[in-house]
Amino acid sequence: MSGVLRIWHPFTQQATDPPPIRVKKAEGVYLYTEDGRRIIDGISSWWVNLHGHGHPVIVAAIAEQAARIDHVLLAGFTNDTVEELAALLRKVLPAQLDHIFFSDDGSTAVEVALKMAVQYWKNVGRPEKKGIVALDHAYHGDTVGAMSVGDDSGFTESFQSLLFPVHRVHSAYCYRCPVGKTRARCRIECTDQFERLLEQRHGEIAAVIVEPLLQGAGGMVVHPVEFLQRIRRMCAEFGVLLIHDEVLTGFGRCGRMFAGELAGVVPDLMCLSKGLTGGVLPMAATVCTDEIHQAFLGADSSRTFWHGHSYTGNPIAAAAGVASLKIFEREPVFERIAAIATIHRERLAAIREHPAVGDVRQIGTMAAVELKTEDPGYFSAMRPRLYEFFIDRGVLLRPLGNVIYILPPYVISSAELHFIHDRIAEAMDLCASSGARSAGN
Ligand code: PLP
Repeated sequence: MSGVLRIWHPFTQQATDPPPIRVKKAEGVYLYTEDGRRIIDGISSWWVNLHGHGHPVIVAAIAEQAARIDHVLLAGFTNDTVEELAALLRKVLPAQLDHIFFSDDGSTAVEVALKMAVQYWKNVGRPEKKGIVALDHAYHGDTVGAMSVGDDSGFTESFQSLLFPVHRVHSAYCYRCPVGKTRARCRIECTDQFERLLEQRHGEIAAVIVEPLLQGAGGMVVHPVEFLQRIRRMCAEFGVLLIHDEVLTGFGRCGRMFAGELAGVVPDLMCLSKGLTGGVLPMAATVCTDEIHQAFLGADSSRTFWHGHSYTGNPIAAAAGVASLKIFEREPVFERIAAIATIHRERLAAIREHPAVGDVRQIGTMAAVELKTEDPGYFSAMRPRLYEFFIDRGVLLRPLGNVIYILPPYVISSAELHFIHDRIAEAMDLCASSGARSAGN
């Protein structure tokens, strides 16, 4: 037994992965390491950071709040900061979503949405509507309910016996079209399977959950807007609730405040986290319509939503959220987002025909390059090599197997973003030359 309590790192095989890099300071888009390196945070520290590390407005808001109210429970109590956050979110959320339930992280926001959907139908006298539909390539988090709606993968393999069954339907992964079409000629036939499912079994289905327009961990798969629009229409037609998991896509990542806006689609429930606090403190929320909330009211206690977490609505996290939304109001955040999108577009157009590249995808501030490989998917042998290649060049990118992507804080400069794209181009050249060499051997 050693005298040290050792940290068990997430998504890490500690027997083989390199030791963690010790960060001493984070500022703007940079992580400063103990051994004197400066690394560009090209993935916003797991897709959370919006306005750069250490934004003074958020830092000051947290300090002020911590001195005033650190934490109070949200059952039977409320506080000005969490109310202010709700009021600011009200201004940016679709008007139909007018109730908010706070929780802790993306996974709990999803758990809450699933539970609300199932209990909604029970409360309106339709308890048989309890099935959930989810997409291929989906990722919604690592708690058991969130894993159940996520696609099967190496992440979920050990827990199959714990997962609840879901109806799984095609995603619009156009590069690997599930129904063998090409985007130029398709009429979104990938949704036909969903339509058939609803025709036959809508009476037992509570909700469908989707990552609107961008499936993140499943490989940065960008959907055509028509895919989401058709899902919305079918949900309305067959009386099935639509849950948007905007944990990744929310707060400007896709070019608008929420990805659903790009398709003109308003869901019945929406999950938020990551950027909710500017990416500084853990917090999540599930928002829903008044119709859903109404179904939980009544003297009968069984109608109540019996769910909560110790830190629900934590005032310090809420203060960070308020500060982040004020930054949206006061700084040219959407101009920064548009500038990132323009650079991504130009750079991806330039690399699209590279011999190592299978596909390029972009939406708003997210740019992805899917490399050609014999072993696609998260556990592609390319992943660790690419990760180290970029770290050695001062860039934090965590390829999803053979998919390299950039998802930067919005304050990244044009030069910094080009620097990352240049490193990706360099990696492509290496892949192409090593592929050519092995083909010649
Ligand atoms: N939903 C989506 C779309 C996500 O991308 C993630 C995390 O990456 C989650 C849910 C889970 O969020 P968390 O890791 O905060 O539990």
